[in-house]
Amino acid sequence: MDHSTWPGSDRGAAVVFDIDGTLLRPGAFLQRVHMESMATAIERVSGAPAEFRYEGGDLFVNGHDLAGCTDAGTIDLVLRGAGVPAAESPGLRAAVVAAMCDLVTTATEGLDSAHELLPGAADLVAGLRRHGVIVGLSTGNARTVASCKMRATGLSGLAALGGFGDTQDARSDVARGAVGAVRAEAGARGQVLGGTGIVLIGDTTSDVGAALAAGVRCVGVATGASRAHELERAGADLVVPTLEGLRVSDLVELVHAGEAGYLDGAAPSTPRG
Ligand SMILES: [Mg+2]
Repeated sequence: MDHSTWPGSDRGAAVVFDIDGTLLRPGAFLQRVHMESMATAIERVSGAPAEFRYEGGDLFVNGHDLAGCTDAGTIDLVLRGAGVPAAESPGLRAAVVAAMCDLVTTATEGLDSAHELLPGAADLVAGLRRHGVIVGLSTGNARTVASCKMRATGLSGLAALGGFGDTQDARSDVARGAVGAVRAEAGARGQVLGGTGIVLIGDTTSDVGAALAAGVRCVGVATGASRAHELERAGADLVVPTLEGLRVSDLVELVHAGEAGYLDGAAPSTPRG
């Protein structure tokens, strides 16, 4: 693949995606498999009950809103609610994650769920790849769960790089993990990747906060738990109603705005495409 086709920049560029509510419809079968597997795993490992409830784009566990919550954070929340001492939580959580990943792997084997992608998701990923942009994930899902969802929806390669929620309960740490992963990939390609060359795309204000904390650009997409004005108020650089309305050139512009403002004050060296 030609890695020099990101218009106007010989620096690398990367886009990392949240999964649920961003690439995947909220309440999709794949998300339900994920949550049912987590509930089963938590009960099996700790005996604590976990009841997941969907309301429009929102998801709750035992009455707690899970917007922007990672798998590790969700499991900790349930264990804490069941009175599990904090000292026992990390060990139990690791066992829950392992059991959950096995259940999701079995349940999604051979599944074709491309129809559960949100409009524009597959085209945007394909377009970014065509332009040589590094693509990956910044998701609260455990890595294996993310891989299963991406395989089932035909976006397999996306899960190879990114930040995941196996052990991190802070979304900002997930985003930092994603930044580290795409920087390493850029290094392997002989590219330099500044913070403004990295764009995180997510559906919650937690994604926006995580992008800000990790020092990268953020696009909010209003197909999940947060409304457009909430994403704007949280500080997203750009907010779109769906990924259908987002073009590679919008992301190029965002990266260039960052380059001009933060790196060297220079205008893009070639016209924007
Ligand atoms: Mg999400």
